[in-house]
Amino acid sequence: ALERYASIRETPCVAACGARIELHMNAGLMADLPSLVSSGAEGVGLFRTELQFLVRNQMPRRTELAVLYKRVLDSAQGRRVVFRTLDIGSDKVLPYMKPNDEPNPALGWRAIRVGLDKPGVLRMQLQALLRAAEGGPLTVMFPFVAQFEEYRAARAEMNKALEREHILGHPIPSKLEVGAMLETPSLAFAPRQFFEEVEFLSIGGNDLKQFFFAADRENERVRRRYDTLNVSFLSFLETIVERCRETGTHLSFCGEDAGRPIEAICLAAIGLQSLSMRPASIGPVKHLMMRTNLDDLRSVIANAKVQGDQSVRPAVMEFLRDRA
Ligand code: PEP
Ligand code: MG
Repeated sequence: ALERYASIRETPCVAACGARIELHMNAGLMADLPSLVSSGAEGVGLFRTELQFLVRNQMPRRTELAVLYKRVLDSAQGRRVVFRTLDIGSDKVLPYMKPNDEPNPALGWRAIRVGLDKPGVLRMQLQALLRAAEGGPLTVMFPFVAQFEEYRAARAEMNKALEREHILGHPIPSKLEVGAMLETPSLAFAPRQFFEEVEFLSIGGNDLKQFFFAADRENERVRRRYDTLNVSFLSFLETIVERCRETGTHLSFCGEDAGRPIEAICLAAIGLQSLSMRPASIGPVKHLMMRTNLDDLRSVIANAKVQGDQSVRPAVMEFLRDRA
């Protein structure tokens, strides 16, 4: 699949209307790194650090992690890498951590909630990331932030880690960006000050959709009932885009839907200018994006809403057919 799109690999993704859309890739294992060059990704929009914890049978050490993260940064050759801190719990259970018996793990003690309640691992990870950066730029993102206070507390952990590195005489990053994933509806309605304080946001569409529709992402039976292009969900995403626009907050989208060409052009049409997806999706998404006038598509979406459609998908499909 990567071969087929080789001719546009180095071409920046510009839609037919002239809008520049950034395409990044999702990664998590060392084996993903060669795809950074072969896919034509502009950077790593989501590096799922928990994957390296999940493939082991004991907790990795800080020095070991620092070496891994440095290899990631080296192979990115200056491209931006967004390291997401440990996102465990729910469907991702570490074999060497005592499992929690929770009735609803997806709504349970997971991700940043664990990181803040038991900060040992988060601190170790932040330190490993700071060491790996070796004074160069570093981007870190916290998963599953549901309220402003959690971001602030996580950010405070980062500040403490920075101070510690400074005292120990280690270099601190030349540029440090700290952001959050927006994957619970509550965060979309956080106070304006949150949007001003957070350095960037990335929509975790997989989780956000499951909580928006109250439909388990792992359960095909309920998940398939709710289309990503459902007008309610798109309107919700538009609200997030608008709030970020008001405060100038950098926003991207890194759920699986970013890698589906039809979904991707619709996300771009409603204002998401940065998408992160599995490497194999970059070619197909870029191919369709470059042939799409996002202004026209935006009108199609707006019109479908006025018509009272449940999903804009049929209208978008018709638009693509007419154009072909
Ligand atoms: C998401 O929820 O959309 C996301 C990107 O994170 P994950 O799939 O790892 O939960
Ligand atoms: Mg998620």
